Amino acid sequence: MLPVAFGLLLTWTGWAHAAATGAPSSSFRFDLACTSAEAGYCDNVKKTLELAGSYVEDVVSFSSTIQVNATVVGFANDGFLSQGRPSSTLVVKDSDGRVRLYPQALIRGKTPRPAVQEGQEMTKYDVEILINSNTPAYFPASVTGSSKAIGKEEVDLSWTLTHELLHGLGHLTAWRDHTQEEHGADAKGASNTSEYLTPYPFVYMVRSGSTGAAALQYDGHTYPYLFDRFLVETTSGKALDDYITAIDGVGKAGTTFADGPAFVSAVAGNGPAASAASKVSTLAKTPGSVSFRLDDGSLVTLDTDPALPSSRLDHLGPEYEKKEDLLMYSVTPSGLEYIRALKQAGSRHPIGEKTQSILRTMGYNVKNSSMVLPMSSSVSGSMAGSKGWQGKLHVMTGVMVVSWILS
Ligand SMILES: [Zn+2]
Repeated sequence: MLPVAFGLLLTWTGWAHAAATGAPSSSFRFDLACTSAEAGYCDNVKKTLELAGSYVEDVVSFSSTIQVNATVVGFANDGFLSQGRPSSTLVVKDSDGRVRLYPQALIRGKTPRPAVQEGQEMTKYDVEILINSNTPAYFPASVTGSSKAIGKEEVDLSWTLTHELLHGLGHLTAWRDHTQEEHGADAKGASNTSEYLTPYPFVYMVRSGSTGAAALQYDGHTYPYLFDRFLVETTSGKALDDYITAIDGVGKAGTTFADGPAFVSAVAGNGPAASAASKVSTLAKTPGSVSFRLDDGSLVTLDTDPALPSSRLDHLGPEYEKKEDLLMYSVTPSGLEYIRALKQAGSRHPIGEKTQSILRTMGYNVKNSSMVLPMSSSVSGSMAGSKGWQGKLHVMTGVMVVSWILS
């Protein structure tokens, strides 16, 4: 075979393939519900979803197409930008004996499929994404074909939708304040103030007594997500999982609770459970205290910023804000294109190596990427974009909320 010299001509928007062509992702099917009077808006959202899908499928092999249900809504609250989560999670008993909730995308997209507990069926969709049409969106040049610069208050949707897609693949913690477990509470800006964090208390709702009043059945154990299996205390390496047993002792299997707050109250009233849930809450507010342990044993620090009102254990810590793994950091700026931010970070791929390693550790089939992004040193004027860091986009747990800091 003759040696082949690749003369990669990489320009500002010059991904080796998908971003430049806008070719539809084949690993994802995006169903988009969108009504917008703004010309081209829905089409641009669809293309940006495809672009986000192409970033992911360039590093992850899926054995079946991942079904994404995306909905554009006009929330009056313009602080809410977008949200991503698994459409469904399935109960799997792991090799360590602990029962965890697996994102359906991992079940569908992996061969052989992880064995789910009996009686569970997959839903049509694997990933849910909500997009608020009332926030100022920027669509990349590769989507619009226009070279229009991003406005200083605009948010690059290719950044946020890739972020949300990863939440939908299970980059998500169940360690939350389950008195306010609905994402909608975050979207409205409610504080996640409980001093007790626990995994999900319930997956089943039951009818109690002849009145048929709804209650939530506790199975004698809580349900962490698969992602949570790899969370450790940074200094000691102690797994956060180790706190679950004490929390689970709050009740016997079959106990019913009216709702999440009732469960958390029971935890608060049980010495060992309260101590464990309080400890995790403290860790989640102590900078640098919790990390994700990769399959090679190295640690990726997670976000435990005490100034943020909710658990951010499913986001990377502030040291990644301007590094190649900035995708899953909690806070991203307005007025800065995703590709520009990546180039400033010296990134070679839209999905950084540590983020790829997190997906691999969770069980996704991560492969060598074919996209190439030039290093920032080869791009003249790339740092000029730092002037764009004028607004802050706060990324909530599975939810992104805009909080403007205008200068
Ligand atoms: Zn997020």
